[in-house]
Amino acid sequence: MTDRKTELAANLAKVEERITAACAASGREREEVTLIVVTKTYPASDVRILSELGVRHVAENRDQDAAPKAAACADLPLKWHFVGQLQTNKVRSVVGYADVVQSVDRSRLVTTLSKEAVRVGREVGCLIQVALDAGAGGRGERGGVGPDGIEELADLVADAPGLRLDGLMTVAPLAGEYAGREQAAFERLMDLSTDLRRTHPAATMVSAGMSADLEQAVAAGATHVRVGTAVLGVRPRLG
Ligand SMILES: *Cc1c(COP(=O)(O)O)cnc(C)c1O
Repeated sequence: MTDRKTELAANLAKVEERITAACAASGREREEVTLIVVTKTYPASDVRILSELGVRHVAENRDQDAAPKAAACADLPLKWHFVGQLQTNKVRSVVGYADVVQSVDRSRLVTTLSKEAVRVGREVGCLIQVALDAGAGGRGERGGVGPDGIEELADLVADAPGLRLDGLMTVAPLAGEYAGREQAAFERLMDLSTDLRRTHPAATMVSAGMSADLEQAVAAGATHVRVGTAVLGVRPRLG
């Protein structure tokens, strides 16, 4: 193995151990949690190595970086998740490679995603990004819609041609009542997911937890964790 492959394999093994331990601690089966490796700022060669090591889900947050990477890795059996704030003028490109957009947070984005998905004949999975630091009717610092905006957006996605409502996503807030209380934040997201599934039973995905707080997310009931740094290393720049 190359040095990089050895390093990524060791990091993946450590993350796998953490997920397994967190599942065991909360009486969950390991199969209930899917690892998504966030490859933002890292090269396509790393994505290829991760695929060789058995990773099946990767995530990116900037279309400029993601589009060429996804093209370079088009031969690999990967599902691509888009997790960044998404401008409508990037939607056409993102729909070209993303299987799931986790950052759906406004109606105009739903309309544009639907139009582009229909145009290319694809079905795009959508998660509503929830901002637990948003005030009533407001939006989060890093994107996302407040809890009171979920239902309207979810209905819009569910009725939009070319889109599939898969569930909810959040990033633990740095401000507001949930700052520093990751597990409480993720438990709140689970409650919101329970509400959502009353009207949209197939929307079962709950995407929460990153390198620093994946244990809390698994304990709260997350179905997907998004891990970057703990697998690939500290990012060379903010991303
Ligand atoms: C970068 C990023 C992650 C991964 O964060 P790490 O701390 O590197 O594990 C997860 N989710 C989103 C939305 C991100 O932008």
